[in-house]
Amino acid sequence: MIIDYRSDTVTKPTAGMKDAMFAAPVGDDVFGEDPSINQLEKMAASLFGMEAALFCPSGTMTNQIAIKCHTQSGDEVICDGSSHIYQYEGGGIALNSGAQVKLVSGNRGRITAEQVAESINADDVHKARTSLVSLENTSNRGGGSCYEFDEIRRIRKVCDEHGLALHLDGARLFNAIVARKEDPKAYGEVFHTISVCLSKSLGCPVGSLVLGSADFIRKARRVRKVFGGGMRQAGYLAAAGIYALQNNVDRLKQDHLQAKQLAEALAKKDFVETVLPVETNIIIFSVKGRFTSPSLVARMKEENILWYAISPTQVRIVTHLDVTPEMIEKTIQTIDAI
Ligand SMILES: *Cc1c(COP(=O)(O)O)cnc(C)c1O
Repeated sequence: MIIDYRSDTVTKPTAGMKDAMFAAPVGDDVFGEDPSINQLEKMAASLFGMEAALFCPSGTMTNQIAIKCHTQSGDEVICDGSSHIYQYEGGGIALNSGAQVKLVSGNRGRITAEQVAESINADDVHKARTSLVSLENTSNRGGGSCYEFDEIRRIRKVCDEHGLALHLDGARLFNAIVARKEDPKAYGEVFHTISVCLSKSLGCPVGSLVLGSADFIRKARRVRKVFGGGMRQAGYLAAAGIYALQNNVDRLKQDHLQAKQLAEALAKKDFVETVLPVETNIIIFSVKGRFTSPSLVARMKEENILWYAISPTQVRIVTHLDVTPEMIEKTIQTIDAI
């Protein structure tokens, strides 16, 4: 048995999800005729109290579509330096939108309203035009950290004062919502656009959604086509998304509990320097002494446990739908023994 903690993207569809996929009514979504995609988009939009949504192949695409729609070439995007849109989307902000970034150094991926306000360029011919602020919740490199909702409201106020758009990279937004017992509609109110992944902690094989106003989604649909993301009978994938929204959101609590259990076992070990506070399903810790992060990952692999070395000193572990309590028990025994 291999226990794979490298990411919450490694989950395989359950029997129930596969049944839902096989039974899905489908049509040509580029013509807007796939009933399952239309249903998923409606369902997600109404969950967040937003006007419309668009189903896309990946979270990179939903973020990049949003950035493209909110900016013009030569504009500047404010985001945290560790954010996925900057670190892990292949330079897409420059490539797709011809925009540049103003990087802010936040607290485990979370930036403040003051930092946003300081980062806005003056109306000056020398300067790039600031047009967009992008937040990430939960923050991946922050170890699954969650924003205080009040801080988001304060950031939105700064955006309103300066005519900026506010986007959320919510690849793991459902983890934050469950951990903080929040109302998705509050997110729909405070952000102009939101990107959420179905293929991360919700257990779908493929798929992300971008949400926004009806006007924004009309524009986004055009950009999705240009980016090559217009799919045809993709309702088979959307059906997995509908199933996930109905069945796999509440259970995220279990992933969060299991992540805390692993973090507690790790904190006792002599080779662990610090474990970032565990708020959701991600554990990031730094390694010292007997191990480097690659050698620790190699050692665990000998035990059929897969972790991920995210830097020479840091390891990331992610809990997800396919991790059972028995697997957690075996992992804790292994941590105790090495
Ligand atoms: C995974 C992830 C994405 C999107 O990734 P895809 O692999 O393109 O679906 C975006 N933002 C964050 C924070 C992520 O963790």
